[in-house]
Order: sequence, then C-alpha cells, then structure tokens
Amino acid sequence: MSALPSALHDLTLAQQSAQLAAGQTTSVALTRHALDRIAAHTELGAFLHVDADGALAAAAASDARRAAGAAFGPLDGVPIAHKDIFVTQGLPTTAASKMLKGYQSPFDATVVAQLKAAGVVNVGKLNCDEFAMGGANENSAYSPARNPWDTTRIPGGSSGGSAVAVAARLVAAATGTDTGGSIRQPAALTGITGIKPTYGRCSRYGMIAFASSLDQAGPMARTAEDCALLLQAMSGFDERDATSAQQPVPDFVAALNTLRPGATAEQPLSGLRVGVPKEFFGEGVSPDVLAATRAALAQLEQLGATLVDVSLPRTELSIPVYYIIAPAEASSNLSRFDGVKFGHRAAKYSDLNDMYRKTRAEGFGPEVKRRIMIGAYVLSHGYYDAYYLQAQKLRRMIADDFQAAFQVCDVIAGPVAPSVARTLGSQTDPVAEYLADIFTLPASLAGLPGMSVPAGFGEGGLPVGLQLIGNYWQEAGLLHTAHAFQQATDWHTRTPATLA
Ligand code: GLN
Repeated sequence: MSALPSALHDLTLAQQSAQLAAGQTTSVALTRHALDRIAAHTELGAFLHVDADGALAAAAASDARRAAGAAFGPLDGVPIAHKDIFVTQGLPTTAASKMLKGYQSPFDATVVAQLKAAGVVNVGKLNCDEFAMGGANENSAYSPARNPWDTTRIPGGSSGGSAVAVAARLVAAATGTDTGGSIRQPAALTGITGIKPTYGRCSRYGMIAFASSLDQAGPMARTAEDCALLLQAMSGFDERDATSAQQPVPDFVAALNTLRPGATAEQPLSGLRVGVPKEFFGEGVSPDVLAATRAALAQLEQLGATLVDVSLPRTELSIPVYYIIAPAEASSNLSRFDGVKFGHRAAKYSDLNDMYRKTRAEGFGPEVKRRIMIGAYVLSHGYYDAYYLQAQKLRRMIADDFQAAFQVCDVIAGPVAPSVARTLGSQTDPVAEYLADIFTLPASLAGLPGMSVPAGFGEGGLPVGLQLIGNYWQEAGLLHTAHAFQQATDWHTRTPATLA
C-alpha cells in the first residue's frame, strides 16, 4: 500500500472521504485545516469570500450525522468551494463584478443545493473572470488570481480561483463553469483535473448566465476519481432549467474501474480508439505543449488504446463563431443588470435612461462592455443575417464534424491550450487572447463533454493538460480513460515546490 500523505491538505477528496468513513478524521478538522490554509495563502487571490462560521457549523452538523450513523454518502463532510458564478443563499454572490457587489441571492443554485444535500461543506466563493468572460482571471473586478506554480503567471480562467484553490491544495475540489473552456483551460494551466459535462447534464439554474446555449457547470479536483465523485452529485434533470436533459445519470464512480470489454488490468484501454485531430497539432501550438501532449498519447497507447487520425476541419472557425454567439447571448442575458432589480445602481442620475446608462457604465468592466457591444451589434437589424445567423449555421457544421470523427473513434485527444500559463499582465490585445481558446471552443459549440488531465510540464516547469473530448453523455468513458491514465502516471500528484 502506498504511504498516506502526511498533511490533511495533501489528501484527495476520495482520501478525505475514506478517512471520514474510517473515523480517522472529522469534518471539523478538515474544515479548520482548509480555513487555516486559505487564510495563510490570500496572496493567491483564490477566494472572493470565505465563510468560516457557516463552514464550521456545516462541518459540525456533518460530524453529528456521522456519529449518529446517518452520513449522507461519500461527500458528507468534505470541504469544497464554489465559483462565484453560482448563487448561494446567505452568502454574497458577485460573479466577480462590481455590478453585483453586496448581492445576496435568496436561493441556492441547483448544483450548490445538490452538493449541500450530499453533505458537502462550502467554505466560500471563488474568484473568476467577471461574468465568466475571460481566460486569465484578469477580468475579475476584485483581484487577479495567481498560479501557484509561478505566482507571476495567470492561473487561466474564467474559473481561475477554482483552479488556484485546488492546485494550491486549499480545498480538494471546487465547482467551475465552462462556456468556452473555463473549466478545462484553468485546470490545464494549474495542473489539475476538470470536466465540462455534456450540455444539459448539470442544471444551469442559479448559475449567473453568460451564454446560455453554452454554459455548463462541472467539477475541478486533483484526480478523475474526485471529479467522478462530485459529478455524481451535480448531475441530473432539473425542471427549473429549460435545457436540462432527461438523461439517466450513470454511476460515474463505478465506471472508473469497470473494465472495457476485452480489456485487462494491464491494458485497461485495450480496444479504445483515440482520435487525434490533425488541426489540434499544427502551427500555433508551442513545442513544449506538443511534446507533452504527444507523450500523453503514447502513454494512452501503452495502456492499450489505438490512435486514429481524424479531422475537425472547422476548428479555426470556432473562434469567430464562438465570439459572435457568446457575446450575442451575453448582451441579452446581461440586460437584466440595469440598476432596478439587482446589485449596483448609480448614485446620481437625471432620469430613467440616465440611471441605466450610469449604472451600467459604472458596474461593468471593460471586457464585459466590449462583449455587450459586440453582441448588440451582431444581433442588430441588418447585421443579424451576416453574423449571428451565419455563426449558427457554422456551429451546426462544427457539431457535424465531431459526429463524423466519432464514426471512427471513441474519444478525441489533443492539447487544451496552445501554451503554458503566460505572465500576468502580458496580454493587452483581446483578439490575441481569444485565439488561445481555439482547442476548447469546438467541444463547447458542439455541446460535447470535455476534460483536462494533467499531462506533464513545459516551459518554466509549468503544467500542461491533455484534453479528452467524448461524444454526448459519455462522461463516464472520459473519466474512465483519465483514471486509467492517472493510474499509470503521476503528473496529477505533483505539487508546486514552493507550496509545502
Ligand atoms: N475564455 C473564453 C471566453 O472568454 C471562455 C470563457 C468561459 O468558458 N466562461 O469567453
């Protein structure tokens, strides 16, 4: 048996769960430890709000349930935290925007409620890009977040605080959301594991909307096993989300170790056809990322998988398509922030229109304003057909390209991001920033599940993630593949040297 990690923060979620079940630790001990570590690492900018009292009360309640022999299940008592895009009753929710400074929701997002019902202890709310718009966490109105591997670097975004909190082992797991890569990209840049489920798998109810046809919730943790544990609780139909799917939820945890037909313990991926899209390995990907990704593909082969060449010919088009559709939906979704019902209202104004104008000018940051303007433009009379309608048609073709690829493979593998984490403040051109989303946008536009798995290190000793994309509702297959990879590699167990 491998030696148990020495400190509580080194334990994965599954290990914490096992220790709780065996009576080797308590939820209060785990929660106190997490709160101390969060307090000791505020320089990372992971949290926007810490709820020490609420977390300790929830932990004590969990310990009492366990003592009475009535623990809810494997997640009962484990401390985690939520991206500040999920509304939480009794705690502030800001979406990292000044617009929602001081806002408190009267209800919990469905995902938050599901995790609460599983007994999870919520220690607080995590930093992110404002309204989840961004890929560096630099669009947070409150503070940047720092990559624990090198604090002069970005952690990625928009779920940057979630990635930092897990990579720095402040908590074992966190929730995130992914509209165009916001779970997968920060997971890749901080060396953790994250899965964006199929669109419709997790409820969007109570997730502050960015682009409703793309937004999905998902877990971020150190291992595929931990992601499976969380996704189990987060999935399922919700009548309060019109696009929630009536789809059976498989046993994600059992699927981790269920051998594929014909596979063996030594070759657990025997029979798995891994599609390698040539468009994901072309120019624009840095050599260090290419090398790590290729090595990960070779590792999948060693585990029994067969590599198959596939093509996703509209990969490049996913950038203009996404950056038309997402702002279009955002401009509509964000019209509700007008100073009347939610959050900020300008202090002085002459009439109603002036109030709207000043409220929105003061409340939104520059990237959010840019997207609202682009969105309003592409939806406006005379431009709708040229931009929005055209983008919708291409979106369908991008989804069709994936279906053609899945005729000859079971999962698709490639890089998550074209390079390792860049330096904070080093990107001032928004379009150049958008280009870095090239490998995460296609699966988002198609509504497919995608995952990032730690796959080595590149330039500056910074983490590289392997992306796995599955067909609709195939999260269990992705988690199984990632778990097999993690049984054979130790990238996911590496931790930043400066962070004991
Ligand atoms: N980086 C992408 C964007 O800025 C994706 C964001 C997301 O998935 N929320 O829109």
